[in-house]
Amino acid sequence: MTYDADLQLFIDGGWRTGEGRDEFTVVNPATGGGIAQLPMASEADLDEALAAAERALPAWRATDADARGAILHKAAALIRDRSDHIAILLTQEQGKPLAEARGEVAGAAQMFDWYAEEILRDYGRLLVRPTGQRSMVVHQPVGVVATFTPWNFPIYLLAKKVAAALAAGCSVISKPPEETPGSTGAVARALDDAGLPKGVFQLVHGVPDAVSRHLLASPIVRKVSFTGSVPVGRHLMKLAADGLKRLTLELGGHAPVLIFDDCDLDKTLDMVVPQKFRNAGQVCVSPTRFYVQEGIYDAFVKGFGERTAKVTMGDGLTAGTRMGPLANARRPGAVEALVDDARRRGARVVVGGEPGEGGFFYRPTLLADVPVEAEIMNNEPFGPVAVTRPFKDFDEAVSQANRLPYGLAAFAFTENGRRANLLGDAIEAGMVGINTFAISSADAPFGGVKDSGFGSEGGKEGLETYQVVKAIHQA
Ligand code: NAD
Repeated sequence: MTYDADLQLFIDGGWRTGEGRDEFTVVNPATGGGIAQLPMASEADLDEALAAAERALPAWRATDADARGAILHKAAALIRDRSDHIAILLTQEQGKPLAEARGEVAGAAQMFDWYAEEILRDYGRLLVRPTGQRSMVVHQPVGVVATFTPWNFPIYLLAKKVAAALAAGCSVISKPPEETPGSTGAVARALDDAGLPKGVFQLVHGVPDAVSRHLLASPIVRKVSFTGSVPVGRHLMKLAADGLKRLTLELGGHAPVLIFDDCDLDKTLDMVVPQKFRNAGQVCVSPTRFYVQEGIYDAFVKGFGERTAKVTMGDGLTAGTRMGPLANARRPGAVEALVDDARRRGARVVVGGEPGEGGFFYRPTLLADVPVEAEIMNNEPFGPVAVTRPFKDFDEAVSQANRLPYGLAAFAFTENGRRANLLGDAIEAGMVGINTFAISSADAPFGGVKDSGFGSEGGKEGLETYQVVKAIHQA
């Protein structure tokens, strides 16, 4: 199937093609071959994007919330109408199986719908004094926003930031990942076709460091929202410090999964395996460090291994594929280095443990008896690898879960209600899933603690990150 994407920059309501700009080669990770050339923004393009966002801000923030919401609803409807096409582009440029790509597109559309509604419920507060004085607490848009999003969920993560920022009345400059421009370009196209006024949203591509340095150096940008790795998050925080820009950082995790011996083992395993290999493990909340209570450790590893061996790996466009390739050429080598290190330190390879043929494939992999000092127990694999270790009791499980500097998501499986409550309190993470992996939804906050970053996306908290609070005192 050909890659039918219209790759352009979107600045000040206009679409810009190559015209002498530098280009980036978009690659299909299932084959490793180039499929298109993406135009990269020049410095002049970035300056125009900044100026356009600044110009568009006053009218957009003064637009009725109803009218803003109507445009977001229209964009959501257009994304849904175009879902088949967008999902195919996403699979071709990112690798995930088509069914997962369709799910991601639906999730992106839902973000626009949800924030179109939530902004209508964004109330302030009135403080009434007996003297007749009134104080009003009101929310206002923070101003021009710059967003930087990664390649693992390119449409969903873009929509999560942009829907909330636009609903709040901000204008936005987004730099999505260069690896997946067709699917993210379709979001910009939907906003444009939905009637978003010119300059309210711009989509630019470029060398990530050059684009972020340029945008963060500008006093026009008041808020930066980034999803990606911890080192890049730290770097952007330093750049944002000079301009005292507000920041939301959604960084990596290394999600622990605590499996207690009173869980429903088969049901748990049936949930664990598809979740682990979803998006080939390239998920910031991917379940990765499996700590299993001693009595059921062997049965868990056996059941996990049997189910893992049945996961069909292949091109995401091929019917029956359950796991696609990794998203770019860097990933298989990075995953292999972690698996080799664990193997050298005595871990047992139960299934997988090697790259696949063709594109950027790495086989679904289960490692058992992994020593805590193995690199993979300490650094997120961001790939299709699960690691397992036994634990004795509640205290040991919790201390293992909390051992790392990350704190994004954590999971636990137990049928004991009191233990579930204690775990919910004790685990250091932004999201805890107990007997479930469903921890990301439009209406709930999503974000990390410790080195996994700060600030929430989703829910009313996600809207608040694009607002400033003002108190107006009236005598
Ligand atoms: P990376 O650190 O080079 O890049 C991560 C993301 O940040 C990419 O989308 C990249 O385009 C962007 N980026 C890089 N430098 C930037 C800069 N100076 N300014 C703005 N954006 C910048 O890593 P990678 O090789 O692309 O991905 C590997 C690691 O990234 C993974 O191990 C994982 O920890 C992390 N990651 C996390 C998420 C997440 O959802 N939290 C998503 C993708 C990648």
